[in-house]
Amino acid sequence: MHSTIENLKREIFARNSGEPEFQQAVAEVLDSLAPVLERHPEYLDQDIVHRLAEPERQIIFRVPWIDSEGKVNINRGFRVEYNSALGPYKGGLRFHPTVNLSIVKFLGFEQIFKNALTGLPIGGGKGGSDFDPRGRSDRDIMTFCQSFMTELSRHIGEYTDVPAGDIGVGTREIGYLFGQYKRIQNRFEAGVLTGKGLSWGGSLVRPEATGYGTIFFAREMYGTRNESFEDKTVSVSGSGNVAIYAIEKAQQLGAKVVTASDSSGVIYDPDGIDLDLLKQVKLEERGRIREYADRRSNRVEFHEKLADVWQIPVDVALPCATENELDLESAQALIKNGVQVVAEGANMPCTADAATLLRETDSVLFGPAKAVNSGGVATSALEMQQNASRDSWSFEYTEARLDEIMVSVHERCRATAADYGAPNDYVLGANIAGFTKVVEAMIAQGVV
Ligand code: GLU
Repeated sequence: MHSTIENLKREIFARNSGEPEFQQAVAEVLDSLAPVLERHPEYLDQDIVHRLAEPERQIIFRVPWIDSEGKVNINRGFRVEYNSALGPYKGGLRFHPTVNLSIVKFLGFEQIFKNALTGLPIGGGKGGSDFDPRGRSDRDIMTFCQSFMTELSRHIGEYTDVPAGDIGVGTREIGYLFGQYKRIQNRFEAGVLTGKGLSWGGSLVRPEATGYGTIFFAREMYGTRNESFEDKTVSVSGSGNVAIYAIEKAQQLGAKVVTASDSSGVIYDPDGIDLDLLKQVKLEERGRIREYADRRSNRVEFHEKLADVWQIPVDVALPCATENELDLESAQALIKNGVQVVAEGANMPCTADAATLLRETDSVLFGPAKAVNSGGVATSALEMQQNASRDSWSFEYTEARLDEIMVSVHERCRATAADYGAPNDYVLGANIAGFTKVVEAMIAQGVV
């Protein structure tokens, strides 16, 4: 079976050359599949791996727009509609200068299995643009979003493809995108986008969901060792929605979170992060994290080197910034300093060799992104449910649903991993559980 998997990888890599992030994500899943393909030879007969690896549809489009200085700008827009076996394509939009087809395909591929793990009826997709929102005025952001949606609107819909936010796309951007969709289609189709504002169809808890879900999942991981977050020291990277609400929930559970970061540097606050100040600097003022260090009157350290965040001795490490931010050297430092739980809040934040090391170290419980951060998209599916029933749920009710879903994702990973003989291997459990669910639906629906 090993050579079958290696051949599949070779063929998929050759077909998608020059796409390193996509290849990394494919390898991560395929490397878990030997036991499941042995148990289900019919999956190979159906050529299911090639079918899964090929997106159902890939859309690349020009986004022309004029900025506030009168300059014409041309960006590139993407939407990869990856797999609709379980429901309409679902996944975020990322606006960041690094966005290219490889990044969108890696994120879309991950999204298929992540969405399957939630147990909710959503397929997988992802999109975005190489547009750089940093330093742009509100007016520029709106103009860009309107041009982007002018093209995207013909490809999406409540029953077809439901985008949401990701890096660089929050409630403000979803608002401008939604407004333009509504204008073009002349339909108040609330279920076409998620991450909406509360007064126009959004869901409570959606902004917090990925971060809260990350902690709920890590809490369950810890629970398998009869441990809790109480009095644990935690390092978090990032300072967007995922990081900030992971910090909030970890603190609510009694942990001390000592780090946060952005692309300009890391803050190490040994007394524990002042969350109100962090929210003010990063969410309200959209400022740089250094300002946190400048304003906090204690012994905060500021480090320019981003990997320094993993040099701090902690019980729990939560990479919540971006892909490949935690490398082998950082993983070694965490292990040497006694880390117990590493849970991926961002998508693919560990390099392949870092993930392998963490997964194979017995003293560490390692939670992979597609399981750990699935609370965001799960709450998007709850937003779709509220839109479909023209209802809106309370914060307590929605948070309780999210918590239930994270407990069930954790349970699904553990049960599947145990079934394949390795109960603590969350990577194996997440990959096989997600894969099996999607593949069974694909087979039932025939070769389409
Ligand atoms: N961008 C988020 C993710 O990586 C959320 C996607 C969604 O809510 O559709 O899962």
